Amino acid sequence: MHDAIERCLALSRQARGESGEALAATLARLDAALAEAGLAAPAKAAEADAELELDLTGYLTGWSAGAQQMFGYSAAEALGQHVLFLYAEGDDDGNIAELFFETDGNPAGGAHTEVRRRKKNGDLIWVNLHILLRHDEGGDPVGMLIKLSKVNQTLSEEDKLNLHARIIEDSDQGVLITDAHERIVSINSSFTRITGYTPEESIGKTPDLLRSGVHDAEFRAKVRSAMQGQGPWRGEIIGKRKNGELFPQSVTISVVRDEQGKISHTFSLFSDISVHKDAEARMQRMANYDTLTGLPNLCLLSQLVGQALTETKRSQEHGALLVIEITRIGAISDTLGHDIGNGLLCEIGRLFRQSLREADVLARLDGHKFAVALLHVEKREHAAIVAQKLLAALAAPIVIENHRLQVGAHIGITVYTEDGSDVPTLIRYADVAMSKAAQNIESAFLFYSEEMNQRAKEHLRIESELRQALGNNELMLYYQPKVSLRSGRIVGAEALLRWRHPVRGLVSPGVFIPVAEETGLILDLGTWVLEEACRQVREWKDANLIMPPIAVNLSARQFDNQLPRRIAAVLERHGVQPDQINLEITESLLVRGTDNVIAIMNELVAMGMALALDDFGTGYSSLAYLKKFPISTLKIDRSFVIGLPYEENDCAIARAIVTMAQQLRQEIVAEGVETAEQMSFLRELGCDQLQGYLFSQPIPAAEFAGMLREGKRLAFGVR
Ligand code: C2E
Ligand code: MG
Ligand code: MG
Repeated sequence: MHDAIERCLALSRQARGESGEALAATLARLDAALAEAGLAAPAKAAEADAELELDLTGYLTGWSAGAQQMFGYSAAEALGQHVLFLYAEGDDDGNIAELFFETDGNPAGGAHTEVRRRKKNGDLIWVNLHILLRHDEGGDPVGMLIKLSKVNQTLSEEDKLNLHARIIEDSDQGVLITDAHERIVSINSSFTRITGYTPEESIGKTPDLLRSGVHDAEFRAKVRSAMQGQGPWRGEIIGKRKNGELFPQSVTISVVRDEQGKISHTFSLFSDISVHKDAEARMQRMANYDTLTGLPNLCLLSQLVGQALTETKRSQEHGALLVIEITRIGAISDTLGHDIGNGLLCEIGRLFRQSLREADVLARLDGHKFAVALLHVEKREHAAIVAQKLLAALAAPIVIENHRLQVGAHIGITVYTEDGSDVPTLIRYADVAMSKAAQNIESAFLFYSEEMNQRAKEHLRIESELRQALGNNELMLYYQPKVSLRSGRIVGAEALLRWRHPVRGLVSPGVFIPVAEETGLILDLGTWVLEEACRQVREWKDANLIMPPIAVNLSARQFDNQLPRRIAAVLERHGVQPDQINLEITESLLVRGTDNVIAIMNELVAMGMALALDDFGTGYSSLAYLKKFPISTLKIDRSFVIGLPYEENDCAIARAIVTMAQQLRQEIVAEGVETAEQMSFLRELGCDQLQGYLFSQPIPAAEFAGMLREGKRLAFGVR
């Protein structure tokens, strides 16, 4: 079979250089070869030729059945009519072909011509006219015999096949024909040019010859099903050339079926699109990235922020945009040259990138301007921390080709969607804020909104005052009792941090703990709390007070490999038993939930300490995942307790949490219980302890000790 197709291609190549008889002979051979290869369309039953007879003046004297079929007129309708009645309008122009042919020039063979004629139903047809003169016995002309055959297309079947073969061969596209067994039976010269495989190397093989191995099974199945006749398929496939190089190709796969409808051949047409792909990638880069630093440019930044804005509007989260102008670059370029200036910009880009998180977008706008997009920030103030980090990255001199160069920056910040809900507005306002910041000679940042500047200032003030608070003894611990819902007795207490500010009075931990978390000060605070709680427990012990365990809150930031060792050292220093101190952690720590966290928890439990999960229900809260952690107590967050027993949702959640905790055999503490109704409901649910204003607010150590001494108990009767 493939020999036959090979022969077709060879013959079509040969035909190109020929004419006249040689061409006709070659085409005949090509016909035969195509038929053998199964590629030639089955020849249609030739339409019956029509024959007409005319007298010498053009009147019809004979009308064959074929003529009736071709034109739709019966013999009765046609005979006796002038041949002009078959003419299409505009074709008569005095030149009636049948009457004006050169009899002399065509003594034997008659005349051939291709003309238009009109059928009875008005349709126009192209016909081949073959006119023969008829003679009587004496040799005088008596009439004409006109043979007509229909011209269906402008090309004969032969010409068409020849043309197709030539198109295939000359095509810029690679052609690959396989038989029903997926063996390659034919290829064209473009196939060889693109893939590097000659006919000898490819014919008889399967198309796996070109397989790159980069496509997954699902993709390959799609291509296979196209080859098995599931309709034509068009797509991009990565192929592999003979030299091992991979190349993207745009491919169309179709099948040829035999008369029984079975697939006889599959053919793939493909073009090598690697050039387009490279160009596309280059264009993409040029359109979206800054050529000097390789960072995203304004265009890409706008796209990314635009997308984030849409999401933010939906989720009501925040994002921030920082525009950063680097100072002194102009002067440096002027004195040391542009190469140094450019090198410096690249290095600044690198330093900025290093001090940002991966999800943050750093872009270079133009000249000396960069921009940073924080696509999702938990709190808007966090943008100020990022601005500080960026300024800190420029604090040390930058060395470029032995020059130690010092630059600064002015940063303007907008937060969305508060300041604007489209990218151009956000950038414009950030620019405005940056210009204001630039009124400082020193590096500085400013938010666009005054409110945010106040917040940022407040944030900075809290940070610096909190540092002093530690050294100035302004911190203290309050204790809030936990009571048993069975006995009504005090069974524990939570140590809660308090800050007595010399001017502002008592500052809530809700205000300063988040600042401490962000700035890392929480580590010092946490150490102080643990130290103070142990000191207090020891003091009570020395005063012979029987103390229930005291719970201390731990920040996720305190949770590192060294934590068990640090705690053990503090306990030991104060002579406090590990079971005297419980630790409260929040879910954010579990979400980080690496093996490392579990290992640290296990170590703490092995030391004899109990772990409680604080604010339960506000985070991930899944049973399956809670099981992994060695936690002995769950604290139901106050937000679910508030609605009890009237809010259906809160009741359902509280019930679910209690059920879950009971399955895990964990103790349950309800936080923020303020009313007797809440207490009764929780008690009936099977909750173990409560902590809340109903029993006591957090109180100073001495008051708590007094409460213990008095043996204060929770009254269960509804007040
Ligand atoms: P938390 O650990 O969930 O502490 C419970 C908070 O609920 C405390 O607020 C407590 O005063 C308050 N609370 C207790 N009962 C009631 C009630 O019946 N009604 C109302 N409205 N509130 C009640 P506080 O002391 O303001 O502490 C707030 C948060 O600050 C704590 O939440 C904890 O996450 C954090 N925190 C406090 N001290 C420390 C500490 O020493 N270290 C760490 N890392 N975080 C601490
Ligand atoms: Mg707590
Ligand atoms: Mg809590």
